Amino acid sequence: MAKAILVDTTKCTACRACQVACKQWNQLPATVTGFGGTYENPPDFRGSYTRVLFSESVKDGEVRWNFAKTQCMHCTDAACAMVCPTGAIRKSEFGTTVIDAAKCIGCNYCIANCTFGVIYFDRALNRARKCDMCYDRMSNGKTPACAKACLTGCLQFGERSEILAKAQAAVAAAKNRGLAGAQVYGQTEVGGLGWIYVLKDAPAAYRLPAAPEPPVTARFWQALFQPARIVAGLAILFGLWSNRKHSADLAPAPEGTATGAGRAISAGK
Ligand code: SF4
Ligand code: SF4
Ligand code: SF4
Repeated sequence: MAKAILVDTTKCTACRACQVACKQWNQLPATVTGFGGTYENPPDFRGSYTRVLFSESVKDGEVRWNFAKTQCMHCTDAACAMVCPTGAIRKSEFGTTVIDAAKCIGCNYCIANCTFGVIYFDRALNRARKCDMCYDRMSNGKTPACAKACLTGCLQFGERSEILAKAQAAVAAAKNRGLAGAQVYGQTEVGGLGWIYVLKDAPAAYRLPAAPEPPVTARFWQALFQPARIVAGLAILFGLWSNRKHSADLAPAPEGTATGAGRAISAGK
């Protein structure tokens, strides 16, 4: 069953408890960062699976803050999975996108092609890393760590269909409060995301892409590479089948029977 997490930005206070919970649960390293003229911190995904974007806008002389927690979006049309040459990236039974660390060779293709630029390269381990929507917790019936830590109800975890219904209700309520630009983000983008956002305004006001798409190179690579993978798979299966057949032919025949080559030799007597 597809799972999702609601990000209702009308309720986000940018406390970043989600960032801390994620670091703690995934045992990610502490990183030293500087002040770059914004409260947004960390400034990028190096050493982090998630970060809250701080976007400021001025409307009618009034400063507005827009906060949006970002991480791997768990795209249905996952560009990272399209380009991974080793099959390390797959869609899980929850509809999420996960990386098998044992299969990752650190080629960086997924990082170069990710639609949202959210994967980071771990130099020490020579592999790609990103949010897996807490696959380990979910597999054990638990709520992802960030959603568990959120105090305001901004993050809510559940079945994707239920989360979508909650998002639509929250958008309707926001519009009733005068937020005319309120909208759902993630329902159909990139085939549907695993994170469903309630935005107060257009995606650009949060620095989210308005019409995200997997890069053309990813689709091209998939079209080129997948058939090769299928051919390689078929070749392996054929090899296994022919090995088994060969072994069966060489196996000693039970007493009183004659098979394969043995039968040919018998026939020549
Ligand atoms: S956001 Fe990037 S890493 Fe996550 S599923 Fe989409 S393409 Fe893959
Ligand atoms: S870095 Fe790892 S996960 Fe990413 S494309 Fe290469 S092998 Fe696949
Ligand atoms: S779902 Fe888990 S891995 Fe993803 S951002 Fe939340 S805590 Fe981090």
